[in-house]
Amino acid sequence: MDGSIFSEMESAVASYCRCFPATFVRARGAELWDDKGKRYLDFLAGAGALNYGHNNPVLKAALMDYIASDAPCMSLDLHTEAKAEFLRTFRDVILTPRQMQYRLQFTGPTGTNAVEAAMKLARKITGRQTIASFTNGFHGMSLGALGATGNGYHRRGAGVGFTGTALLPFDGYMGPGIDTLDYFEALLTDPSSGFDLPAAIILECLQGEGGLNAARPAWLRRLSDLCKTHGIIMIVDDIQAGCGRTGDFFSFEVAGIRPDIVTLSKSLSGYGLPLSVVMIAEGLDHWLPGQHNGTFRGNNTAFVTGRVTLDHYWQTEAFSGRIKALGHRVRNHLSHIAGDFPMDIIGLRGRGMMQGLVCSDPDHAALVTRLAYDAGLIIERAGPRDEVIKVFAPLTISDAQLDEGLEILRHAFERADQRRSIRAA
Ligand SMILES: *Cc1c(COP(=O)(O)O)cnc(C)c1O
Repeated sequence: MDGSIFSEMESAVASYCRCFPATFVRARGAELWDDKGKRYLDFLAGAGALNYGHNNPVLKAALMDYIASDAPCMSLDLHTEAKAEFLRTFRDVILTPRQMQYRLQFTGPTGTNAVEAAMKLARKITGRQTIASFTNGFHGMSLGALGATGNGYHRRGAGVGFTGTALLPFDGYMGPGIDTLDYFEALLTDPSSGFDLPAAIILECLQGEGGLNAARPAWLRRLSDLCKTHGIIMIVDDIQAGCGRTGDFFSFEVAGIRPDIVTLSKSLSGYGLPLSVVMIAEGLDHWLPGQHNGTFRGNNTAFVTGRVTLDHYWQTEAFSGRIKALGHRVRNHLSHIAGDFPMDIIGLRGRGMMQGLVCSDPDHAALVTRLAYDAGLIIERAGPRDEVIKVFAPLTISDAQLDEGLEILRHAFERADQRRSIRAA
């Protein structure tokens, strides 16, 4: 296929396909194949929607059975057995063992809709307006969520000003010696600071799009305490870092905190089927029926595959241990690569299976990912200047596939350096 239909018909807004222009015809686990039969390793993983890999056979079998049985696929928010089983399994496998008590709100199928709902609910609970968000945070493209998102390019797409949000510095934003929460606490305790008491704060414990900045557990605990002291709702947006990506099911478990509200989406269904939830701590479910609604709230096929991910992967500690082991493997490889190319790489970021290399020059990072793509590795960049190369493999990847992909990445750095020395000569 020559791909001209895309340039003829598709809006200029399309993005990932510009970096990875192949036409894909088959996908399994951590691998993709294009229409010319070329194989790729997928370190993009649906931007975090494919934690369990492409077309995971365990999930696929349950999905095929469900569809074949003529059970309802579309049911608005009517009761179905698929939904009941998802709720029961989420309670028994995820919440109860962690001594967590939350109700689930199924929102429209996108992550940004879960964020909108969470922000609305926090305003409704507190009667206050401001939602404080953090530098380099990413929460989605609809206006409320975009107002809490840092990226200037995305913000300029809105065409209107944002209201009801305020910005705070994320952990580490002012350099290593400064605890940015000193600033937040000063704002909260000074009656003349000019900072209106927010309804909520929203944050990612590990910022995905913002460049894999990981908040320290102690910082998260202090933030949680500040919220409690001042009656601020704490919203953790776990849409990207949740569902096992950091090694635990939730990204905040490492800090032992209990957010008031949690958003989940991307890998919640496990199959790439759209599904989003807002987890609402007991006592905070102030919604009235239908106050936030939508046509596609909780699709039954997504409930089925989502329930199977929990049953199959999260009943024991084994999967979490496996993710952490893979995370160490990634860290080891990345340290070696960073050691081999000290001019190009100025740092390592992230944790678990959400790690990356910080490059000194965004153009060099772009060249490296392009060369990696040519060699059969799909890998993207993140960060304020797209300077962080983001290793985002499926959590079900084998050691051999992971090693192969990271070797392609290392080789891409080598080739990028060769090009540069040829240019310099
Ligand atoms: C992807 C993402 C969203 C938005 O989800 P969409 O499905 O793209 O609307 C929100 N928050 C975080 C942290 C994300 O990574």
